[in-house]
Amino acid sequence: MQIYLDHNATTPPAPGVVDAVCRVLRDTQGNPSSIHAPGQQARAVLDDARRRVATLIGARASDLVLTGSGTEADNLAIRGAVEALHTSGRRHLMTTAIEHEAVLATCGAMEARGWRVTRLPVDCSGIVTPAALAAALHENPDTGLVSVMHANNEVGTLQPIAELAALARTHGAWFHTDAVQTVGKVPVSVDALGVDMLSLSGHKFGGPKGTGALWVRRGIRLVAQQTGGKQERLRRAGTENVAGLAGLGVAAAYARATLQVHAPAVAARRDRLERTLLDGVPGAHVNGATESRVPNTTNISFDGVEAELLVIALDLEGIGVSTGSACSSGSLEPSHVLTAMGLSAARARTSLRFSLGADTTDADLDAVIGRIPALVDKLRRLNQTAAAVGGRR
Ligand code: PLP
Repeated sequence: MQIYLDHNATTPPAPGVVDAVCRVLRDTQGNPSSIHAPGQQARAVLDDARRRVATLIGARASDLVLTGSGTEADNLAIRGAVEALHTSGRRHLMTTAIEHEAVLATCGAMEARGWRVTRLPVDCSGIVTPAALAAALHENPDTGLVSVMHANNEVGTLQPIAELAALARTHGAWFHTDAVQTVGKVPVSVDALGVDMLSLSGHKFGGPKGTGALWVRRGIRLVAQQTGGKQERLRRAGTENVAGLAGLGVAAAYARATLQVHAPAVAARRDRLERTLLDGVPGAHVNGATESRVPNTTNISFDGVEAELLVIALDLEGIGVSTGSACSSGSLEPSHVLTAMGLSAARARTSLRFSLGADTTDADLDAVIGRIPALVDKLRRLNQTAAAVGGRR
């Protein structure tokens, strides 16, 4: 039986999502931009989904741009803002060293177009301090956009977004947050956060893969990144994925209805997993903030263990976890998030991410807790043997 502790990568569909997607695919054949009855039927499905997603983040439905992913929402926010600000004299962009590639690579692309980019540092728990942002804003009065993620996908650390956004506002800069890892996991309100743009992704909270949204505060003018039709109030050309977005709407309504119950239950299970592993495995350490983080995530280093090998060993036993870092050209790059937090490359390579969901059971955790100490021990012994053999050569 598969035990899945990789919900930050993607989640299984929430109740009702698969049925909604199938129903819409089967019964709703119109194009939502058509004015005839089948078209209006599709439009009604889309409107309903948009309303449900907006309600989840305390927003107005008309301020949402429905997209094909969280990555697309991030791209639209950053590229759209940069192009809109082109003639404003503001040519500086700020982000953080620990963003998802969707933001980091997009900011890199803007740098290649001549924008100056500052990547704010984080402290040892992965937090961007308001003092660091205030200093950088002071040094760069031409900052047009600040993009800081709400929670990090590898360690789960939550950023003080309301404070950071307020600082950006006092300097006349727009503020975007990538909330892909918080929407559906913790209460999110665009007004309480005080941001100008917020990205979310359906498949991180029970919706279909390939769905997402960018919320844009009224008054913020973005340049659309696709040319074509007039969909999404001219902010995203292309016929919407009506069935997928209907599924996103169902997931949003489900998350809203269950979040208050699921979040503390998931946090309690995560805490038990973390505590038991720290107590039961010598040389285990938690990475990231333990007070301010999403309820489902823990990132743990096991000294002397190549985490990638542990992922493979666990997979062979039917347990899915992840390292969070990417393998490039055959050599494992240490996580940019962990190294930005000050961890050595060696320690970063020993780190495993466990991300739970509402469907994670105590029995799942018992199985994981039962297997990890022996696997860690075995991998450490293999490591020592390999080092001894290497030393004799
Ligand atoms: N932003 C963050 C923080 C993420 O964790 C992810 C996905 O892992 C994304 C953006 C990209 O979302 P999507 O998979 O919908 O493109």
